[in-house]
Amino acid sequence: MQILKTMRTIAVAKGDGIGPEIMDAVLNIFNAAEVPLDYKVVDMGKWVFDKGFSNGMTVEAQESIESLGILFKGPMETPKGKGVKSINVTARKTWNTYANKRTFQTLYGVDTVFSKAGIPIDVTIVRENIEDTYGGIEHMLTHDVALSRRFITRPGSMQVIKYAFEMAKKKGAKRITCGHKANIMKITDGLFLEVFYEIAKEYPELKADDVIVDDLCMKLVTRPDVFDVVVLTNLQGDIVSDLCAGLVGGLGFAPSANIGDHISIFEAVHGTAPDITGKNIANPTALLLSGLAMLRHLGYMEKAAIIENALQYTLESGIHTGDFGNKEIPSVNTTDFAQAIINNFGKIPSHNPRPALANHYVTPTMFKLQKNPMLMSQEMQEEMIVGVDMFVESNEQPLAVAEKCLKHTNGIFKLVTVSNRGTQVWPTGSVFTNLVNQYRCRFEGVDGTVITQQEIVLLYTRIMADFKICSTELLNMWNGTKAYSLAQGQ
Ligand code: NAD
Repeated sequence: MQILKTMRTIAVAKGDGIGPEIMDAVLNIFNAAEVPLDYKVVDMGKWVFDKGFSNGMTVEAQESIESLGILFKGPMETPKGKGVKSINVTARKTWNTYANKRTFQTLYGVDTVFSKAGIPIDVTIVRENIEDTYGGIEHMLTHDVALSRRFITRPGSMQVIKYAFEMAKKKGAKRITCGHKANIMKITDGLFLEVFYEIAKEYPELKADDVIVDDLCMKLVTRPDVFDVVVLTNLQGDIVSDLCAGLVGGLGFAPSANIGDHISIFEAVHGTAPDITGKNIANPTALLLSGLAMLRHLGYMEKAAIIENALQYTLESGIHTGDFGNKEIPSVNTTDFAQAIINNFGKIPSHNPRPALANHYVTPTMFKLQKNPMLMSQEMQEEMIVGVDMFVESNEQPLAVAEKCLKHTNGIFKLVTVSNRGTQVWPTGSVFTNLVNQYRCRFEGVDGTVITQQEIVLLYTRIMADFKICSTELLNMWNGTKAYSLAQGQ
């Protein structure tokens, strides 16, 4: 195990709103514990955006973060306005922090249903952080129909799943679970699940299993103690990690690490809390827990254990900020809460004390794929285009749409199915299916013959005569397997 004692410099962005208050409290705790870190405070946040920097950071800030590799950040306000992206999300994407890791643990002194029932929670959610619908690739196809593209890629899935397995192994976890919806999204979530079980073969010491995400939510709120590490795609992971925050007392106790190969970002999950800004009453625990994850990521195990034991001891003794804890005990402000933790250095909590050196792990990174990740998959032996889906705008009934399409098949194509919102409405369907003004018309080669792109372009120009074509997708067949889904009812 790597134990670092050397001085290291990290970038710190204090953030907006309560950011500077909670960051100062956490850095005071680190300094009192003599954590061997130097801090390069960088200009990043809404106030920098307001000066005209569209990504929310100055050029110098970006250079510092990229050369130092670690950013410890306070919450940042999302600038308002259509098309303006969140500074937080931009940072995560710019630096390809592909894994979002959040560990949720019972903190004694923070009352929850589970702590009262004596059910201990220690679950780590690893969420893919770049792909899925978070590409934000959305279009209005007609005035009534919006489309979001959901990308799940093999290299992207490999990076995050490999990280989750390696982290679970180093953490000493027994079980790793893939949360997914592959029963419905057979191709996208199916790919994520397939990669999960491929990588699982390299870790026979871990019990690898999978749970459909809705069932996972139900199980997490009934028996959270049976889960250890859970890995999910981006949107499902986003929802499940907030659910887990609720299990341990809310967002005030939810740390977050965004792990990349070159740059990692540690931050609290909560926002800038404008309603309590400037009052020195914010709870710094979530940022402190994120900071502890950062110390362990850097190898400062001993310092992390001292501070975490002091935090737990402080919580157990009933000291709290105004947002949680026993209302009969007066709350303390941010500065005094931090000072109480400092005063408790060396004290050992009665629940879950952290061992000073053993049993903690350096967060693994460096899962850079061996070659250009965009080119990683081998071409299949047999690849052919067997048809095309054309999404057309129409207010007509399915039969009328099909009849117009059939006029243009020219003996090369056959019209296989017409669907509306994914449900087949021609050649068979139900009058009870509600229709919107966009149909997917699926054309395949007659007798299953191979289709060329040129033939598709010619079909496009013929169909254009009758419809506005909103979008098209090729139907690929790889080694005899369809690389596309069937319509519901097809
Ligand atoms: P919020 O998390 O800032 O606040 C929600 C509620 O929780 C408020 O009542 C607030 O007082 C309370 N709260 C939050 N953190 C607290 C703390 N540490 N101690 C005590 N109480 C706390 O969410 P919001 O109001 O929806 O968002 C405010 C701004 O923060 C928005 O601009 C949003 O985009 C941004 N935001 C940033 C991040 C981030 O930087 N990672 C995350 C979420 C929201």
